[in-house]
Amino acid sequence: MKGKPKKKIRITPPADFAAGMKGVAVAMDHAVSQMGPIRAMKALSKLNQKNGFACPGCAWPDPDDKRSLFTEYCENGAKAVAEEATLKRADPFFFSQLSVSDMLSWSDYDIGKSGRLTHPMLKIAGDDFYQPIEWEEAFELIAQHLNQLQSPDEAIFYTSGRSSNEAAFLWGLFARAFGTNNMPDCSNMCHESTGVALSQTLGIGKGSVVLDDLYKADVVIVIGQNPGTNHPRMLQALEQLKANDGMVITINPLEEAGLKRFKNPQRARDYVTNGTTITDLFLQVKINEDVTLLKAIMKILAKRDEVSHDVFDHDFIRDKTIGYQELIDDLKQYSVEDLATQCGIPIDHIEKACEIIAPAKKIIICWAMGLTQHKNGVENIKECVNLLLLKGSIGKEGAGTCPVRGHSNVQGDRSVGIMHHPSPQLNKALKDEFGFDAPETSGLDTVNSIQAMHEGKAKVFIGLGGNFVSAASDTTYTFKAIRNCDLTVQISTKLNRSHLVTGKTALILPTLGRSEKDVKNGNHRVVTIESSMGKVHKSEGHLNPASDVLMSEPEIVAHIADKTLRKKVNVDWLTLATDYTLIRDKIGNVIHGFNNYNKRVEDSGFYLPNHSRTGDFSNMPEGRARFSVCALPKHSLTEDQFILMTMRSHDQFNTTIYGMHDRYRGVYNERRVVFMNPKDMEKNQFQKLDLIDLESEYDGIKRKAEKFYVVPYNIPQQNLAAYFPEMNVLVPINHFADQSNTPISKSIIVSVKKHISS
Ligand code: SF4
Repeated sequence: MKGKPKKKIRITPPADFAAGMKGVAVAMDHAVSQMGPIRAMKALSKLNQKNGFACPGCAWPDPDDKRSLFTEYCENGAKAVAEEATLKRADPFFFSQLSVSDMLSWSDYDIGKSGRLTHPMLKIAGDDFYQPIEWEEAFELIAQHLNQLQSPDEAIFYTSGRSSNEAAFLWGLFARAFGTNNMPDCSNMCHESTGVALSQTLGIGKGSVVLDDLYKADVVIVIGQNPGTNHPRMLQALEQLKANDGMVITINPLEEAGLKRFKNPQRARDYVTNGTTITDLFLQVKINEDVTLLKAIMKILAKRDEVSHDVFDHDFIRDKTIGYQELIDDLKQYSVEDLATQCGIPIDHIEKACEIIAPAKKIIICWAMGLTQHKNGVENIKECVNLLLLKGSIGKEGAGTCPVRGHSNVQGDRSVGIMHHPSPQLNKALKDEFGFDAPETSGLDTVNSIQAMHEGKAKVFIGLGGNFVSAASDTTYTFKAIRNCDLTVQISTKLNRSHLVTGKTALILPTLGRSEKDVKNGNHRVVTIESSMGKVHKSEGHLNPASDVLMSEPEIVAHIADKTLRKKVNVDWLTLATDYTLIRDKIGNVIHGFNNYNKRVEDSGFYLPNHSRTGDFSNMPEGRARFSVCALPKHSLTEDQFILMTMRSHDQFNTTIYGMHDRYRGVYNERRVVFMNPKDMEKNQFQKLDLIDLESEYDGIKRKAEKFYVVPYNIPQQNLAAYFPEMNVLVPINHFADQSNTPISKSIIVSVKKHISS
């Protein structure tokens, strides 16, 4: 076991505010301890600035106009930069001392703290150690493996949301030129349900609001989202909304600190006052009963509208939508009492929500994975769209859809062509620009890629960033799938578990981080990314790279493509990767909305076209936005079963574990915890911090997660919460959201029992 002796778990009452002095202190501690004071100040002063680099954390947008000098970031942004710009190194000496088997026994936290990768490394079949390899040899090895495949569809080209638009475009171009649409990405595991639902209802798979809208709304509903930890700067936007007399309704199984109160670290008075109360009404919904609650709200609103005719926006409904009557007819079959019982919220609380919503003209609904990672993930979002359409709250200032994306460029990667379904328009544009025929059949998404590798139908996996084995569901199954591959390649900045659970032969290709200078032939190169709100902007690193040997992601992709395809397609890969303005010219020629890319991205960037933002639904089949009739979720739990949701701690970003605490929920030094209602603990005769085992059973297959501490918490009865990725082991690979294939990581049926030491 690595590192210092483990500290004992400590539990305190949950925090009742986010950020404040403590947030600043924690951010500085992470930054200075990992980067040193000078590098830390240099890095943080450039973070999210117009002439600086984009945060490698979440996809929350930067303000269009004025930015705070030096402090345009949150605690978790500082942690993300500290991780990337750490002075620690996982160099060839490090790898010569440690076998893969040794490192595999470490925690994700310890693996991540090994530092930056500095050299390309190779692990040959049967060996337990990585050894250095020259770049050219590494590219040659990948090309050999790819070219030996029986079919291009035996290769998987994964993309994480960290990759720039330039790297992602080249990656998609390469995969298609090679002959496959096997392009799973991290979207498949998070917001795929959003893309499907919004495309089917509003004609575009992205949200409709920009940052300024959040300041101007009458009501913002935050549902299935914990911005205090996962998108902390969103709290500043909500604070601004409150200052403008807007209201916030929060819908979630847990009452999270960030949605109670926010102490803005940039405002001196917040250090001595209570800060801003964010939530006006908290509705503690049971896990996955969001549709049920939304139906209850819409039913009460419909009843009021029958009398006054002014609760719904009937002009908007008549002119812009289709399916209204079917929705109203469907609501008639339910009783509010039954809906309230099922979702776990007293009727008077639902009435209070309706009091707030009924007079509002401008409503925004924000959501994240609390809605998407369920069997009915797509319908969860369609029900949100229903409420917005009833209120005419799409396509006008201060109103609309606001899915908040997790990884900083996950939306941009999709915009520039990372998707497993073929697009006739894109394929035609690629043919016109590059002269080759892209494949016309759908490729594999994340779940299907894992199944294909498990069955031996896919043999080479290349990950452009990310930590695939930890992010994916059904850990044991996924490990086996990856180990089945002949070759796995990870293009990465830092060591993670995906470098240790590998194919027979494994390569690590180290790449530049966002914060680092990317210089070629004396030119400082910039990349571009897209925020959660569809704004494309540039990012320029300012720190010295972790090693002289690193290559940028576009260069690595270009070299792999050049070696693999030789002259099979008419693309000058290496020239494109030398000068990213050339890649952007190509993107501008191929992808709608990116015309004149290089010029428009100068200064603070540009918004991509988004017709739902202006209420134009002419690209929908009937030229109108569509109401949907959604079914109630059904979970037939036995008396002793629970629904478990996975979630992140406050010391975590996706699979990166910054630390062992979850300050906002009052848990210190431990991640193997399960949050449980005290009444359920009593019923099961569990004491605080007892060790328990969890088991899920789907299709006769039992999956186990053992030795987790029980923590009493304010969570609905028969609901549990625990951390991702530790609980991925319980998520069955073949259970996912209808239509989007997003794993059901937020509604896993489990049983629990006290752990018995053997
Ligand atoms: S809100 Fe997100 S993008 Fe902004 S600094 Fe924090 S982690 Fe980075």
